[in-house]
Amino acid sequence: MPKNSLSISNRTLSHKLLILYALMFLLPGGFLLFVIWDLMQVVQDPESTVRLTGLSLRLGIPAAVLMSCSAFLLMYRSMHTIRKVTEEAGDFYREMHGAASVPADVTEENDEVQRISHYVTDMIGELRRKINDVDQYAQDLDQANKKLMEVAVVDGMTQLYNHKHIRNLLITELRRAERFSHPLGIMMIDIDDFKTFNDTYGHLVGDRALRDVSRIIRNNVRTVDVPARYGGEEFLVILPEATIDGGVLVAERVRQAVEEHVFDTGRGIRKTHVTVSIGVGAYEGAVLTDSDLISQADARLYEAKRSGKNKVIYTDGA
Ligand code: GH3
Ligand code: MG
Ligand code: MG
Repeated sequence: MPKNSLSISNRTLSHKLLILYALMFLLPGGFLLFVIWDLMQVVQDPESTVRLTGLSLRLGIPAAVLMSCSAFLLMYRSMHTIRKVTEEAGDFYREMHGAASVPADVTEENDEVQRISHYVTDMIGELRRKINDVDQYAQDLDQANKKLMEVAVVDGMTQLYNHKHIRNLLITELRRAERFSHPLGIMMIDIDDFKTFNDTYGHLVGDRALRDVSRIIRNNVRTVDVPARYGGEEFLVILPEATIDGGVLVAERVRQAVEEHVFDTGRGIRKTHVTVSIGVGAYEGAVLTDSDLISQADARLYEAKRSGKNKVIYTDGA
């Protein structure tokens, strides 16, 4: 758009206002013409127009002067306000971008409205970029929170749920089972003679065996079951909808899978086997707490150990 064009749309806003207010002078100007014409009437015929002339002189001239002054004052104030807004927008723009970064084409812009529009468009772009940045930060934060949550509920070594989380899940599952009158099974698993295993092959091999057992448990329970590392080499598995009989089926499958698994001891071709003992408990309608359920499975696990290990116990001993 050529800056020096005489088209009214290309003139600066100040010029446009000047034209507007200049037009306002036509009214008082017309009045002045009337006064002059009136005075000429007086010169030609003093008797007939003496009243009108007196009125034009006393009211017309002060009114014309007053209107002119008001128009100028109004014009000056409007231009001043626009200049102030432009300056403030410029300051804000510089603040946003850094002092030296107002582009030359903007500073050379001679229409204040265009200059403000330039600033605003640019600032909207900047705000959009900042909003995108904030969105990105929010997503990163969300990811970090998810990771943190995972760390808080998952055991680092076995990648199974940790003790605290499984206890919370058990409370929830037991409440659900009670509300819908569904059974709920659990099993407590403990690796047999794991101290001896560690003593024989070392703790690093022991750690690997622990991870192997965790994987075997995960692969041999149903998809709805929730395994967790309950303690050092102890596991608790929640078996939703499982009665004692259903729990025994899963427990027996896990026991056999561990028994059949060949563990690598990391010493050449030397392989070994590990066994687990399992206590199964279940909520089948009788009133009991989550701790009662744990104690029940724990007592049966103890019985499995006492009676020879590598077995599943699901009843209370006589
Ligand atoms: P039992 O058949 O009666 O369960 O005998 P046990 O030796 O397995 O039981 P005990 O409670 O005497 O020992 C548990 C062992 O498990 C002791 C500890 O060295 C081992 N253990 C616990 N957590 C870890 C672990 O994270 N890594 C390794 N390598 N060993 C662990
Ligand atoms: Mg053990
Ligand atoms: Mg133990």
